[in-house]
Amino acid sequence: VKENGRNNYELYEATMSHEITEQLKIENYMIKALEKKEFTLHYQPQVNSITNQVVGAEALIRWYHDEMGYIGPMKFIPLAEETGFILPLGYWILEQAIKDAKEFEKDAQDGFTMAVNISAVQLRDETFVSRVKELLRKYDLSPKSLELEITETHIMTGPELVLRILEELKEMGVRIAIDDFGTGYSSLSYFKDFPIDKLKIDQSFIRDIIKDKNSQGIVLSIIDMTKRLGLISLAEGVESIKELDYLRNHGCECIQGYFTGRPISKEDFIQKIKECDKR
Ligand code: C2E
Ligand code: CA
Ligand code: CA
Ligand code: CA
Repeated sequence: VKENGRNNYELYEATMSHEITEQLKIENYMIKALEKKEFTLHYQPQVNSITNQVVGAEALIRWYHDEMGYIGPMKFIPLAEETGFILPLGYWILEQAIKDAKEFEKDAQDGFTMAVNISAVQLRDETFVSRVKELLRKYDLSPKSLELEITETHIMTGPELVLRILEELKEMGVRIAIDDFGTGYSSLSYFKDFPIDKLKIDQSFIRDIIKDKNSQGIVLSIIDMTKRLGLISLAEGVESIKELDYLRNHGCECIQGYFTGRPISKEDFIQKIKECDKR
C-alpha cells in the first residue's frame, strides 16, 4: 500500500511538472508571438433572428504556433491574464478589431457593431478608457460601433470600480454586453445601475433548448427580462435551425453560433457581408 502511494505521488508529480513545463513554454512563446505576428482575429457573425441580416461581429483571437500548432484562447488567455501579458495583447486585439470594423462598415448595414472580449485585468488598467478613445479616433470609428463584452463574474470582482469605468465608456458612447449570461456569480442588483446594452445568453442554456424544460424556462425568463429592461437579447452557440426557430419565435432578437456562421477570417467576413448585401 505504501509502495503504491509513493508511485501515485511520483506520477502526480510528473504530470504536474509536465503541465508546468507546458505552461512556461506557452508563456514564453506568447510574448514572442506578438512580435512575430502569429496572432490573428477571426470574426463570428451576429445575426438578427427575424431578418437574417448580419448586425455585428465578435472578434475571437486565434494563435497558430510553428511548433505547437493551434493553441486555443481558453488555454492561453488565462495565462496571459495571470502574467499581465493580456495588457499589450488586449490593446493589440482592440486596435485590430477597431481597424477591421472600419473596413466592415463599408459593406455592413447601418448600426453594425464590433464586439471585443475584455478581461477583468484590462478594465483595471488606468489608461484603458483613454486608450479606447484614442483608438476610436485613430481609425475614425464611431464609439457606438464598438461593443465591449464583459462577464458577470468580472463585474462582481469589483463592482464600484467596474461601474465607474463602464459609466465613462457609456458617456463616450461605447456599448456594453454581458457575456456568458447566467453562468457567473451573478447578482441581479447590478442591472439597476449598470449601463448595459445587451445580454448574451450562455450556450449551455441553448444546447438543450429544444428538449429541456428547465433550459427553456431559463432562456424565456432572460428574454422577458431583456424586454422589460430595454436590452438586446442574443443567444450564443446556436447550432441548428430548430434552435434558431425556437429562439426567434420566443422573441430572442439576435443569434450567434455555428448555424448562422462560424468564426472566419477578416477577408471571408467581408465576403460574407457583401453577399448578404446582394440578397
Ligand atoms: P466566448 O467569448 O464565450 O466566445 C464564444 C466561443 O464559442 C468561441 O470559442 C466560439 O468559437 C465558440 N462558438 C461560437 N459558436 C458556437 C457554436 O455554435 N457551438 C459551439 N460549441 N461553440 C461555438 P473560442 O474562439 O475558442 O473562444 C473561447 C473563449 O476564449 C471565449 O469565449 C472568450 O472567453 C475567450 N476569448 C476568445 N477571444 C478572446 C479575445 O480576443 N480576448 C479575450 N480576453 N478573450 C477571448
Ligand atoms: Ca464573448
Ligand atoms: Ca460567451
Ligand atoms: Ca445544440
